[in-house]
Amino acid sequence: MTDSQHGRLIVLCGPAGVGKGTVLGRVREQHPEIWLSVSATTRQPRPGEVDGVNYHFVEREEFVKMIEHGDFLERAEVFGNLYGTSQSYLQQTLDEGHDLILEIDWQGAEQVRKLMPQARSIFILPPSQ
Ligand code: 5GP
Repeated sequence: MTDSQHGRLIVLCGPAGVGKGTVLGRVREQHPEIWLSVSATTRQPRPGEVDGVNYHFVEREEFVKMIEHGDFLERAEVFGNLYGTSQSYLQQTLDEGHDLILEIDWQGAEQVRKLMPQARSIFILPPSQ
């Protein structure tokens, strides 16, 4: 994935509440050319969240079907909700030459690191006390 035909995959990871969303917002502001992967989740939308923009909000049953179809590159359960990254969206975006960023939890980041070792991983840690 180092040749110019393919986009670069960037994985942004860190514990909840560490400010990943803020970092992501800045990156997108300064680098609008970087695409963002919209994950599927079984979590309920929060006020202001839009289906297809923040997440693809799906029922658990549908999520399980997607697992069975092999739709996910990686997936994880976080606070009782399922989250997953679409394999086909990721592959198509990279194949089209776009850089792509994933904002996922550490379990997903671990899976991506094994499956796509060429990905750049960025771990955001909270300040030490
Ligand atoms: P939230 O529900 O607050 O949006 O996200 C909860 C956690 O799930 C965050 O740590 C977020 O990075 C992670 N997350 C969001 N989408 C995905 C995904 O597709 N895969 C994995 N593994 N984690 C995700």
